[in-house]
Amino acid sequence: MMIIMLGAPGTGKGTVASILSEKMGIPQISTGDIFRKHIKENTELGILAESYISKGQLVPDEVTIDLVKSRLEEPDAQKGAILDGFPRTVKQAEDLERILKEKQTKLDIVINLTTPEDEIIERIENRRVCPNCKANYNVKLSPPQREGICDKCGHELVKRKDDNAETIKSRLEIYFKQTSPLVDFYNKKGNLRTEEVSERINRFGKDVAEEIIKDVLK
Ligand code: ADP
Ligand code: ZN
Repeated sequence: MMIIMLGAPGTGKGTVASILSEKMGIPQISTGDIFRKHIKENTELGILAESYISKGQLVPDEVTIDLVKSRLEEPDAQKGAILDGFPRTVKQAEDLERILKEKQTKLDIVINLTTPEDEIIERIENRRVCPNCKANYNVKLSPPQREGICDKCGHELVKRKDDNAETIKSRLEIYFKQTSPLVDFYNKKGNLRTEEVSERINRFGKDVAEEIIKDVLK
């Protein structure tokens, strides 16, 4: 099963992806998480990625595509994967098609998450992440039981460095310019499913994931 999570920053791609991954027994491949791991370990790729991520820009396509291609070669991804945050440009989407074709794998479903823009900014401002197990929290909407501490592993939560007002603006701009054309790209191929995740309609990532699982696993 090959699934793509599409959506602006802060719409809950990671939350939905991690629930799907657990229930479906296939890995969540988050390019953002992979880059952050490299940044933490100060690798060559990490240093390069940080120079873009800190400014709210995309890491160049060539680097990102190579990374995903080799990740998809790993044994745990042979039964499928949930691509969380990839592709983000038309070039990445086209290359992914080639990669999947070579592997004789088809893309099953593209889940496009939408959230009103003003909510997105607030969600990113209120987002806290666990650097250890990657769990996501929102200090207002889904706070951990103990303030600042991960429910799942007990590690201290952090605010991502790129989750600041200035960077968010640039990330949203890039999303609308470079990533949102993929909605059309996949819609034309007929495997797009759009889901609204919004506090206003009381619908959260967890609920969306449950619905998708019900449909996909039946
Ligand atoms: P969010 O969805 O909140 O933006 P991610 O963890 O998906 O968070 O991405 C964090 C940053 O990592 C992005 O702003 C971008 O700089 C970089 N990044 C992640 N995925 C990609 C990708 N597919 N192509 C280019 N850059 C990426
Ligand atoms: Zn944790």
